[in-house]
Amino acid sequence: RPRVRFAPSPTGYLHLGGLRTALYNYLFAKSRNGVFILRIEDTDQTRKVEGSVDALIKDLEWAGIEYHEGPERRLNVLRRDAVKSQRVPKYDNKCRNLSEQEIKDKIKAGVPYCIRFKLTSDCQAFEDLIFGGIAYDVSMNEGDPVLMKSDGFPTYHFANVVDDHLMAVTHVLRGVEWQISTTKHLLIYRAFGWTPPRFGHLPLIVNADGTKLSKRQSDVKVEDYKKNGIYPLALVNYITLSGGGFDHVPGAGVRLKDMDELAEEFQIDKISSHPSRLNPDLLEECNRLEIKRQLQDEKLSKDLSSKLEKLIETKYPEQKKYVTEEHIKSVLNWATARVTRIEDLASSEFGFLWILPSNTEIDFDRNLLIKLLDTLERIERFDQENLKDRLREFSSTNNVKFPTLMKTLRSVLSGLKEGPGVAEMMALLGKAQSLERIKAVIR
Ligand code: GLU
Repeated sequence: RPRVRFAPSPTGYLHLGGLRTALYNYLFAKSRNGVFILRIEDTDQTRKVEGSVDALIKDLEWAGIEYHEGPERRLNVLRRDAVKSQRVPKYDNKCRNLSEQEIKDKIKAGVPYCIRFKLTSDCQAFEDLIFGGIAYDVSMNEGDPVLMKSDGFPTYHFANVVDDHLMAVTHVLRGVEWQISTTKHLLIYRAFGWTPPRFGHLPLIVNADGTKLSKRQSDVKVEDYKKNGIYPLALVNYITLSGGGFDHVPGAGVRLKDMDELAEEFQIDKISSHPSRLNPDLLEECNRLEIKRQLQDEKLSKDLSSKLEKLIETKYPEQKKYVTEEHIKSVLNWATARVTRIEDLASSEFGFLWILPSNTEIDFDRNLLIKLLDTLERIERFDQENLKDRLREFSSTNNVKFPTLMKTLRSVLSGLKEGPGVAEMMALLGKAQSLERIKAVIR
């Protein structure tokens, strides 16, 4: 049974890249009936961010990523220290050959010291599950690496290897920024006489134009996606669309997959080593499909309705609102072809759906509207198609130009100069509400 782990340091919030690493480890485990471990590498006490572990666990839970082993409510079980060291400048191994006596003297004199790993083999090449053959010469580039820091705590590299071994991790899938550390880790495994796990490094995530993700722009917190109306399954699918790992059928369009399907179809050798380009349009499309999916489920669609109703209430606290259950439902169904977030439906652009238009600026012919009202009242099938035909008919029998009629009606119904088609709008508002709005201006 493969054992994999996601080993974030609690130094900030979960970002898209971290979510990708967690997701792919999770899918890998799930697809092979393996075990997915969450291991908090809370070893660098100085960089620890209060509350970040809780936030991280919440984000994972939100995304539908469940771990089999990991911290429960009490998180201070893991209390080691190690430095998630960045590339260190090359060390000259100057203390490598001190004599026993020199060492004793220095310790006695209180000279701070660390324990280093004496490199015996220079280069430990390995077969990366995603990148293929990788070789990096630690000894040439960095010198003997530190295992125990002068404060008595292990480094990230040391603790990471020991933990992976003790946790019987079989596959390490992590961000490519750790790739050159892997050769170092392999040397430590070898010194212990331990069998190392297999390593696979996930490529960089970049913007659509290939530029680096900036933290401020699009490398946003998972929490922010959540706040901005993105649903977990949409985000997860979005990641897999840019991150690879699946058979790609060109031109097939986006299809939303649930976690079971994703795990079933996930193939690690389908992950490309090229940077993963994000295409934000795909996120919108995934979210649109997710909303559509939720609308087909009785409970989820109720949740969508009440979410929308709350948004409208907040947006228009004072006004009289048109928010019947039926109306909200029909708007939601209509919306899956036009918006990608529920929040959009509460924006001013769609205000006409919920409140009476306040500024009907257009001059209209009162008698004409009275006639129109009479015609509309007698229409049984108040759907878009039928309304279109009836309005055309009305314009020719009454000798009023069709565009003029539309302009007037649009203004009366919505206060807008442009927007959805007039017949479409009327069908959406329904007969009673459409007539009410016309009556309101005649009065
Ligand atoms: N603690 C490291 C991080 O924050 C984990 C690296 C690894 O997966 O080995 O990314």
